[in-house]
Amino acid sequence: MNVIKSPQIYLDVALPAALPKVLTYRVGSGHQVPEVGVRVVVPLGNRRLTGVVWAVHSVVPQGYVPKEIEAVVDDRPVVTVAQTQCWSWMSEYYLCPLGDVVSAALPAGMKLASKTRIMTNPDVEVCRDNEEGLSDAALNLLDALRLREGMDLKEIADVLGVAHPQRIVRLLVDKGLAISEEELKEKYKAKKKTFIRIDSEVMEEEGVLSAELDRVEKKAPAQARALMAYLEMAPNGEGVLKTELQNKAGVNSSVVNKWVEKNVFVLEDRVVDRIGSYEGKIQGMPVLSQPQTTAYKSLRKSLIERKPVLLHGVTGSGKTELYVHLINEALEAGQQALFLVPEIALTTQLIVRLQKFFGDKVKVYHSRFNSSERTETWLKVLDDNKGSLVVGARSAIFLPFKNLGLIIVDEEHEASYKQQDPAPRYNARDVALWMAHKWSVPCVLGSATPSVETVWSTEEGRMTKVDLTERYSGVMMPEILVSDLKKEQKQRSMRGGFSKLLRDNMVEAFENGKQVILFQNRRGYSPSWQCDLCGDAVMCERCEIPLTFHKKLHGLHCHHCGYHVAPPPKKCCACGSTSIKPKGLGTERIEEELAELFPDVKVARMDLDTTRSKHAHAKLLDAFSNHEYDVLVGTQMVSKGLDFANVGLVGVMSADKMLTFPDFRSFERAYQMLTQVAGRSGRSSERGTVIIQTYSPDHWVIQRVIIGDHAKLVEHELIERKNFGYPPYVRLIRISLRHSDEKRVKAGAEVLATRLRQRFCDRVAGPDTPSMARVNDLFRLDILLKFERQLNMSSYREVLSADIEEFTLDSRFKRLRVKVDVDPV
Ligand code: ADP
Ligand code: ZN
Ligand code: ZN
Repeated sequence: MNVIKSPQIYLDVALPAALPKVLTYRVGSGHQVPEVGVRVVVPLGNRRLTGVVWAVHSVVPQGYVPKEIEAVVDDRPVVTVAQTQCWSWMSEYYLCPLGDVVSAALPAGMKLASKTRIMTNPDVEVCRDNEEGLSDAALNLLDALRLREGMDLKEIADVLGVAHPQRIVRLLVDKGLAISEEELKEKYKAKKKTFIRIDSEVMEEEGVLSAELDRVEKKAPAQARALMAYLEMAPNGEGVLKTELQNKAGVNSSVVNKWVEKNVFVLEDRVVDRIGSYEGKIQGMPVLSQPQTTAYKSLRKSLIERKPVLLHGVTGSGKTELYVHLINEALEAGQQALFLVPEIALTTQLIVRLQKFFGDKVKVYHSRFNSSERTETWLKVLDDNKGSLVVGARSAIFLPFKNLGLIIVDEEHEASYKQQDPAPRYNARDVALWMAHKWSVPCVLGSATPSVETVWSTEEGRMTKVDLTERYSGVMMPEILVSDLKKEQKQRSMRGGFSKLLRDNMVEAFENGKQVILFQNRRGYSPSWQCDLCGDAVMCERCEIPLTFHKKLHGLHCHHCGYHVAPPPKKCCACGSTSIKPKGLGTERIEEELAELFPDVKVARMDLDTTRSKHAHAKLLDAFSNHEYDVLVGTQMVSKGLDFANVGLVGVMSADKMLTFPDFRSFERAYQMLTQVAGRSGRSSERGTVIIQTYSPDHWVIQRVIIGDHAKLVEHELIERKNFGYPPYVRLIRISLRHSDEKRVKAGAEVLATRLRQRFCDRVAGPDTPSMARVNDLFRLDILLKFERQLNMSSYREVLSADIEEFTLDSRFKRLRVKVDVDPV
């Protein structure tokens, strides 16, 4: 007789750890079977990890006995089925473990591990109003957490007398009442600001304040000023920024602290990151110009057919205005829209612009937000059913959209869409295209300088190309002039890094009340510290590059590994000469030279060194846009997407480096960089000017930039790439091997290359030494694979993965670091 037993249920679980595949677990009897996308806690070795259910099935695993899951964390999926498909695809396409994708996708707060310590959130403000409606167990836990410094999950389980406290912990974490220790650390690292408010008792008790004021008025007028200033700024006793208060009252910190000592002022440290709710007025849709309307119509037509569109619009043509209309349509239909921008820095200006149209529907997501903020946005997107707009950097493609109605990838050509380290080394633009295709979502890639690959896709008919060839309201494209540095040097008309042509144009711009942007893609004072006699430059001890001189830090610094020497040596260590000094031009030096050339002009500098803190960037841009500065000097940060109305002149200090960089994309990149930075000039009413300083004024790329002939550039590049076998005609996969022992890297690379050559013949190039052969004491060799574009990846992926895996398991090469990069940029 057959007894029909209900089959054992198994779960495939993806764990945020570098595991190649999902692991299978058993659901214990009596446990409810979780759905796909629910988080579960499972044992792995002697650890417990939080993973995501990838599949539910009853196929008995062969060869091992699966362990039982320990707990179910969520009562509904927090990862959608669509996401599981996308992440699986990413793992396959980018040849990286699924666990790495899961790890990159989930905010830290959603990956609670058993050893994670949980503590109460010291952010008191959040806490008070969030306790309502908590279960007894949750309140018990909260009380217990308040008594201790923090507990791990095991301790929590003991206290509560339950086996699996994850759900309760999650509830507290989601409500902002509890926080994991890592997150707390992150929070304290996050930029905090000190606020002042008046002690509530002092505020409420009548007469106390005026008595205090009377008391200090004569003998400590500064203190009186501070108190008065506060009352003016915050008549109802709310918090004001300490620094703002000091500025307004014209007092220093110690004066304010006197009031703190007297318990009149209370200090509060607050994190000031989140975008506040929008309070301004909502504007109607912008009225499109004639060319914009035409472009919009073709855009829509293609999107309705679900064919992705390349919107190729010159700088200042109003691409954003077209996006706004598309977003509006999606939101009105109750759908979600995803707006990708290449750089976090760009979100600030854009958010302000978009909030005017969409108010609180705008959400922001990127890696500079801490993990609780990211978790919060994650859950909002998951539960959103009214439609919302997410603006984000590349990691926003991981969000749990359920109803995605539009994807915009602005500045699609940008290399920063590509994640370099760690794996997954994905390109958010390409993932967006995959999503659009797979889920039939309208998708627009926008750029003034589209990538060669994307233009090629339109030529192949896989995408539609829509052009906007004029600036909005007929502003002319800037006039681009070339300053021949060789000639000016001969005529002795250079002053430091400034040619006469540039200086004259700057004078004119200042006279007309215009602002100036100066672009130089090197930070620090000078890119090297070099001997005049023998030419020897001081090199990094750990990397094969010269050290950059930073004047403010009075030292030589390596931008790749952090190595530094201070103060810089006064003697050449090669020849002993004392004639050793900074050579070349960095942003810091430009700033200094400007002070000499134009003593009355206010200069701001924007590079990595001046924008390390979280809001520095936004502040600088704000100040520049309010004309608090006349000149903005910066690295590539100033070249992208920024929209300043009053910039009349852009100077490129040196265009030569980018034209000689050894990479098959360097001409394309140079064209993009120069055109983008030029595009910052003359955007509002009058025609702007651009000066490009170079030793090779006749270079064909510069000539193309001058006349804005992007089509010619692409045509030229496509011919070259076809001839030499580069993308888009082939798919590149680069395997980098690194180790501190040069010989071992060499031996390993030879073995791997030989193996791959047996498989893939002359599709394998190398091992070759990359342009930086040693970084941070690791020697590097690259093997480059080129597969024809027509070749389906599934025809070689598995063999390739197996070969790489076999290599990493080879005991001789175990310690070699192997990095696989599909579609490197
Ligand atoms: P792009 O992104 O193509 O470089 P933007 O969208 O930044 O161009 O537009 C350039 C400037 O022109 C912006 O200040 C923008 O507000 C303005 N602009 C463009 N189109 C319109 C429009 N239809 N109505 C009002 N202002 C517009
Ligand atoms: Zn020397
Ligand atoms: Zn270094």
